[in-house]
Amino acid sequence: MTAARLTIDLDALAANHALLRRLAGGAEVAPVVKADGYGLGAAAAARRLAAEGARSFHVARLSEGVSLRAALGPEAAIYVLDGATPGSVPALLAERLVPVLNSLEQVALWNQAGPAGLHVDTGMNRLGVRLEEAHGLAGRPCELVISHLACADEPDHALNAIQLERFQAVRALFPGVKASLANSAGVFLGPDYVFDLVRPGIALYGGGGQPGLSAVATFEVPVLQVRDVPAGETIGYGATFMAGKPLRVAILAAGYADGVLRASSPAGAVWLAGGRRRLLGRVSMDLIAVDVTDAPGVAAGDLAELFGPNLPVEDAAAAAGTLGYELLCRMAPRADRRWT
Ligand code: PLP
Repeated sequence: MTAARLTIDLDALAANHALLRRLAGGAEVAPVVKADGYGLGAAAAARRLAAEGARSFHVARLSEGVSLRAALGPEAAIYVLDGATPGSVPALLAERLVPVLNSLEQVALWNQAGPAGLHVDTGMNRLGVRLEEAHGLAGRPCELVISHLACADEPDHALNAIQLERFQAVRALFPGVKASLANSAGVFLGPDYVFDLVRPGIALYGGGGQPGLSAVATFEVPVLQVRDVPAGETIGYGATFMAGKPLRVAILAAGYADGVLRASSPAGAVWLAGGRRRLLGRVSMDLIAVDVTDAPGVAAGDLAELFGPNLPVEDAAAAAGTLGYELLCRMAPRADRRWT
């Protein structure tokens, strides 16, 4: 029987990259491939994006930068968003990774040891030097100045315009330095937010719910068994679901050990036999049950899609009360990954 599999469609990744490039106009698209490419494999994604013309990439951790350098070779610019942390400087230099410095302490630690970026906080209050501190750094060598939007996925949120205005002031402090504000959703906010370089992650991987994106990840799991459950019987741990009428139930070979979020029950569904089939009862470690009463032809070995082109990853995530980001990043190693 086919095992649960996570297929990553690199052509779809390239199509999303092309869409972002169009939206970004002449700005550089510098993909974010942290967290192993949002759970989908940073090396494969970055190599394909490099073949599509991407020259700069972002990761979060030093270790991710080291792996990416090995995957991409010496040419690519690799920015490390954690910046320069104690003990990291020799490895950053040895691997020619560019830290995006996040505080005056990091600026001092790096001590102009090589090219660096600078993160200026414009209102997210997470990482970055404060605006007042940025004034004191103006004129220092720097190859990229960034800030990060807190609410880009809410186009009407007042903080977007506030952060934009603050970032315009930051940019004026660093003339001639590449400026970058937009993540995926920021690119969709429009050209004012684009500046010289954009840093999309989730949209490249087909998530985030913006229009025109192609599904990149497809998670398919096989039916292990089909059974009839009489009215009045319950299904699964805790007996949380009771059949109100006789049901035909498919048991699928995937559970939370594969990345199916336990919170997917009771709202979740899968795509099977040409339609959405609701989850019945709790998600267990290796198994889920779905209602196939209206699809009598379903048999052991059939494949159900948990997310993919028929069931958007954001819909699957919403059923579990979360976002596509978390769903993708939590995909477990047990699912067989393949890149097409
Ligand atoms: N830039 C920074 C600083 C980030 O932390 C992230 C991701 O969280 C991104 C860009 C990419 O964001 P998104 O995946 O929403 O495009």
